[in-house]
Amino acid sequence: MTTSAHPAAEAVPTGSTVTDRLVAANERYASDFTDPGMDARPVLGVAVVACMDARLDLHAALGLELGDCHTIRNAGGVVTDDVIRSLTISQRALKTRSVVLIHHTGCGLESLTEEFRHELEMEVGQRPAWAVEAFRDVDQDVRQSMQRVRTSPFLLHTDDVRGFVFDVTTGLLREIDPSDAPAAGRA
Ligand SMILES: [Zn+2]
Repeated sequence: MTTSAHPAAEAVPTGSTVTDRLVAANERYASDFTDPGMDARPVLGVAVVACMDARLDLHAALGLELGDCHTIRNAGGVVTDDVIRSLTISQRALKTRSVVLIHHTGCGLESLTEEFRHELEMEVGQRPAWAVEAFRDVDQDVRQSMQRVRTSPFLLHTDDVRGFVFDVTTGLLREIDPSDAPAAGRA
């Protein structure tokens, strides 16, 4: 990626913040924008749950266009209660049917442990209510995520739930077989 081709890196007054850059980029975006006339229901009827990792450009990697899908992202692409909340609204109010889960190689959550919560508690005097959801085996974490979606009582459609690991060095997805056993020797 060259600097000159980066829409958010074009000339912005010295001393501006990164958010100022984004706002300036948005003004250029809006100047060419025409109302696509879509309603809120995703065209492809799919919700993608993915890690927030900066190296994963979901639309480019999956050939998605504006309006095609719901994108639900968090650290790890973990299926938390809040992700179930979004998927429930996605399916029940906005008519999606398929769920795609995407984790990736080199995820930051592989270098954390639940000790992170304890360290936070030591520092701020309060233990967070949420789990870190750290993992050692990305394949197994995708399987667990698929299982959480498939067993949710709130979702209408759990028959088309597929999980993948995105390789940040090749750009390729590798599908995870939900029935495979966890890799031996890795916990
Ligand atoms: Zn990640």
